[in-house]
Amino acid sequence: MTLKELKPGQTARVITVGGEGALRQHFLDMGVIPGAEATLIKFAPMGDPMELRIHGYELTLRLADAEKIGIALTEESARQPQPAGRRKRTDHPGLGEEGKYHPKGSGDPLPEGTTLTFALVGNQNSGKTTLFNQLTGSNQHVGNFPGVTVDRKDGVIRGHSDTRITDLPGIYSMSPYSSEELVSRDFVLDQHPRAIINIVDATNIERNLYLTIQLLEMNIPMVVALNMMDELRGNGGTVDVNAMEALLGVPVVPISAAKNEGVDELVRHAVHIAKYQERPVDQDFCDADDHGGAVHRALHAVAHLIEDHAVQAGLPLRFAAGKLIEGDALILEKLSLDQNEKEMLEHIVFQMEKERALDRSAAMADMRFDFIRRVCAACVIKPHESKEHMRSRKIDEVLTGKWTAIPVFVGIMALVFFLTFFLIGPFFQDLLEQGIGALKGLAEQGMEAAKVNPAIQSLVLDGIFEGVGTVVSFLPIIVTLFFFLSMLEDSGYIARVAFVMDKLLRHIGLSGRSIVPMLIGFGCTVPAVMSTRTLPSDRDRRMTILLTPFMSCTAKLPIYGFFVSAFFPDVSWLIITGLYLLGILTGVLAAYLFKSTLFKGEAVPFVMELPNYRFPSPRNVMMLLWEKAKDFLHRAFSVILVATIVVWFLQRFDFRFDLVTDSHDSILAAVAGMLAPLLNPVGLGDWRIVTSLISGFMAKESVVSVMEMLFPGGVETIGTLAASSMLVFSLLYTPCVAAIAAIRREMGRRWALYVTLWQCAVAWVFALAVRLIGLALGLG
Ligand code: GDP
Ligand code: MG
Repeated sequence: MTLKELKPGQTARVITVGGEGALRQHFLDMGVIPGAEATLIKFAPMGDPMELRIHGYELTLRLADAEKIGIALTEESARQPQPAGRRKRTDHPGLGEEGKYHPKGSGDPLPEGTTLTFALVGNQNSGKTTLFNQLTGSNQHVGNFPGVTVDRKDGVIRGHSDTRITDLPGIYSMSPYSSEELVSRDFVLDQHPRAIINIVDATNIERNLYLTIQLLEMNIPMVVALNMMDELRGNGGTVDVNAMEALLGVPVVPISAAKNEGVDELVRHAVHIAKYQERPVDQDFCDADDHGGAVHRALHAVAHLIEDHAVQAGLPLRFAAGKLIEGDALILEKLSLDQNEKEMLEHIVFQMEKERALDRSAAMADMRFDFIRRVCAACVIKPHESKEHMRSRKIDEVLTGKWTAIPVFVGIMALVFFLTFFLIGPFFQDLLEQGIGALKGLAEQGMEAAKVNPAIQSLVLDGIFEGVGTVVSFLPIIVTLFFFLSMLEDSGYIARVAFVMDKLLRHIGLSGRSIVPMLIGFGCTVPAVMSTRTLPSDRDRRMTILLTPFMSCTAKLPIYGFFVSAFFPDVSWLIITGLYLLGILTGVLAAYLFKSTLFKGEAVPFVMELPNYRFPSPRNVMMLLWEKAKDFLHRAFSVILVATIVVWFLQRFDFRFDLVTDSHDSILAAVAGMLAPLLNPVGLGDWRIVTSLISGFMAKESVVSVMEMLFPGGVETIGTLAASSMLVFSLLYTPCVAAIAAIRREMGRRWALYVTLWQCAVAWVFALAVRLIGLALGLG
């Protein structure tokens, strides 16, 4: 029997795990190992994928993959006894109590002045970002790393100026599955942080410890931050921290990152172990009595065999030995074993597989989970089903329910857009506009009184206040939209959307995971492109990157607002909704096209954790919004301001640098006029429109500021038909420079150029279609 045949509510024991390569390793790392118990919770509304409960957490996978996993149904009575209740309840040491686990004591500290570098490593959703924000404080400079990494943030721990801590993307094991996970593993392996802070979600401890014991093998000083203790204790669970320290051989500090409990103590431990370079005492997790000790003997034999090579290659010994047994080709190459040693290695592995009756990867995963079971049995009292989990289940009955999931998704998105564009956003936008208007009045009076040159007055009033001011007034809408998007993401809902939509996205050749970058794309294409790093296959990543720019980003909103209020004030919501839908539709069409041309082949399997729903921490959200607002204002007062001033000068002077009375004689009119014929067929051949579109390439918002300046008498003169073409063209034409730069980072120069040209072509075709339809309807 295979997992695919399981019915909702049934529980089965995993017998075999089929498949091969990285995907199979990923299954094993996620706890789908022979002997594990899995309960089927439900199928997605469209019948595929399925949601499983395994090792106390929820996992999704597709039926096609479930088919490769052999199972046997378990009887209710034959279930493994739960460790809960077996042990006498011990008193919890309590948050903030000093753990005393410092085996090395204090001798030979690192020399004064050494920067203590920390890597913050943990599973996804274990609270890394929350902890990072607590550690570094809000006034800390937090910025994305330039270059390769995205989610990697650096900061200094508050009150310890000699530290540097790096927030890494979440990983489940040291066998990376997506390119983002590779970033984390390589950071730990190659950057040699002085110490690791391993954050463990205490409510999901079995799965989280799987990474912990692999990190211990790295032989880097480490402290375990046992997070979400508030939730665990609130539901009757507890952890005997001192016993856990003794078993893991590193300090363990119970904390609650969200409530800022235990964080100070964590810092003291972290700084101490880094300073005195206290490495994990124990890296030996294989049990000599486990199934005759087959894995134990193999590991030790391989470790002896490769000891000298590991030292030479600069790899931690236990880590290297484990990876060789799993068959990691990369590590094998790094070690440069000779032929004889390679053969011995294979002999050892062969013998182990025979004795253990499991293949190499499964045997290693089983050994690790066996150790974790022992740790948990010795020091964890599991909570009864947590309030949070029950709540999540209830919410999921609706949000991923068979009949409710899709209507609710549409409803939620509609609500988000309604609130953003029609309720909250415009309210604050009006306020801001009034403020800017008042400021402009003051500036005008001031300049009149000081008898400032009228040309300069026009620059300040028409260029800067009208142009940049209009752009800035969109700040509230943009911040509001980001607020909702980050709420959806942080609460855990977007993971459900991926689960529900997987089958639909498979039609266009993608997996449910691609929905995340696309939704972020409604905010801004740059982070959307970056977030594709969570996708495990190159093909999916590239294809998703090419589709995200079709999701209308917030920078285009000022353009819509500008034209809609001038031409379609009565049906504004209809036009704006239509534009968003048109963007999505174009994306779908493009996906079909890509699927059968550039990106043939299958989307990657969909294996993902569904975290409990949680209230996003207000602090995280505020910091994100602050970053977005800062970013937006920075752009308004750099790129957009400069573009506006440059355009102002170019439209004021002719080629002999004489002031012109009519801007049609200006340098700008001549230069932009040369490009105008290209846009003539779609009705946008006016040099002023061309100019605004070019400046829109710098930043979409500046289309508006330039239009404001070049059409001092109002934009109405271009006519409804041209305005319609313009809206569609702005929606679809090339992403801005920042987005193109992000695409270039991910895919290379040629693709970036390709995207620029391809989207201009698409925009041109659609704008032409709009014009032709309009003409046929007798507009224009
Ligand atoms: P990351 O994916 O590891 O960066 O995790 P985040 O920092 O984004 O946290 C995931 C979720 O867990 C967020 O909704 C947090 O508010 C929540 N969270 C983080 N730490 C705690 C904690 O100590 N207790 C509780 N109850 N929730 C927490
Ligand atoms: Mg995070």
